[in-house]
Amino acid sequence: MAPVVEQDLPQNLPLQRVLSNPDGTIDTPPRAPSPVHQFGTLAVHAGTRPDPHTGAVIPAISLSTTFTQSSVGKPIGPYDYSRAGNPNRDNFEEAVAALEHARFALAFSSGSATTATILQSLAQGSHVISVSDVYGGTHRYFTKVAYAHGVKVTFSPSIELDIQTMITPQTKLIWIESPSNPTLSLVDIRYIATVAHQHGILVVVDNTFLSPYVQNPLDHGADIVIHSVTKYINGHSDVVMGVAAFNSEELFERLTFLQNAIGAVPSPFDCWLAHRGLKTLHLRAREASKNATAVAKALEASPNVLAVNYPGLDSSRYRHIALKQHRDGMGGGMLSFRIKGGHDAAERFCQNTKIFALAESLGGVESLCEVPAAMTHVGIPKEQREAIGVFDDLVRLSCGVEDSSDLVKDVLHAVEKAVVGPKIMNGIKSNGTG
Ligand SMILES: *Cc1c(COP(=O)(O)O)cnc(C)c1O
Repeated sequence: MAPVVEQDLPQNLPLQRVLSNPDGTIDTPPRAPSPVHQFGTLAVHAGTRPDPHTGAVIPAISLSTTFTQSSVGKPIGPYDYSRAGNPNRDNFEEAVAALEHARFALAFSSGSATTATILQSLAQGSHVISVSDVYGGTHRYFTKVAYAHGVKVTFSPSIELDIQTMITPQTKLIWIESPSNPTLSLVDIRYIATVAHQHGILVVVDNTFLSPYVQNPLDHGADIVIHSVTKYINGHSDVVMGVAAFNSEELFERLTFLQNAIGAVPSPFDCWLAHRGLKTLHLRAREASKNATAVAKALEASPNVLAVNYPGLDSSRYRHIALKQHRDGMGGGMLSFRIKGGHDAAERFCQNTKIFALAESLGGVESLCEVPAAMTHVGIPKEQREAIGVFDDLVRLSCGVEDSSDLVKDVLHAVEKAVVGPKIMNGIKSNGTG
């Protein structure tokens, strides 16, 4: 499982900096979590150690942008300027590295900044292969920004079939989202990594939809795993942030340089909040996955639903990959379904739920619903959208941690009203009220 071996900790964990006191004595990092610990224990303890001066169990938020030096070029502690590094970011990065079975993690100001920084690490003329149904903002960066920097991205709707023929001598990176958004299709990471590595190509997996609790892409051969921390890792819909985790020292040097040089870094306060959120990731992800399973099963049994996309269902065509790649074959908290009655019914569904709030984003404690064709994926031309399964009648759900019986009731009631109930006029009835 974890590539981290016991003697790697804590000395070789570069993010676990040794604290030196003003009097020159050194505090060794106390009670570092060992890799023999399970996920929940690591989530609670990794990157958190009592303050050596006050004993505070929870680290203080270190807002200072600059750090004093005892003589020229000799900072008192490990920090000199907060863009280059600060205690709260280090703590958070250390925790994510532990949860993703990585040696290193680097935090950024958003998931999108993480993507941008990785793409900027490529030389001009590089070629990238990406799955077709990537996150909309990733698609936008690949097609509108990377291109201007001389990095060319080509997309594949079925990457396992196409990879061999798509690779060119310039291919440097393969970009996977598994599950994809919003159709929840899975990619066999091990297979792609095996082919990629034969050609010296790096594999990046955007693991946002599952969180490190459900899937650890590095264990399946990926070279870099990234997250929009905004979603499950923070989990409370109140921080925008991103993170990348990996094992290669060379990548650590290159990406640390770019993290500082580009400067798309998160604030210490956001790092502190996201670290607090991460401590309950296992509880939230477990509950969200349980809820999504209950909702998916209820929708699958409904005569008003055309199809359900959820890798936790036995009927899913990706079930075999979920069983191989996900913890206990869990499906995660996200699902999508096609409702009978076309786009109007999809919109009416979102206006008739009382618990699921109509909003973009995902991975928070509260349940959300949206219609991708009109919201998150509106920028993709209809033909391209439908080719990857994003039909006008598709509804995407992010299941939160409410009680599953309430969520199932809410969804079935809204489906019924959307399909067979009296039509309501757009905008008259707002979501979440009566
Ligand atoms: C939200 C999201 C992103 C972008 O993250 P931001 O924090 O919003 O910049 C990237 N990938 C996926 C899968 C996402 O859901």
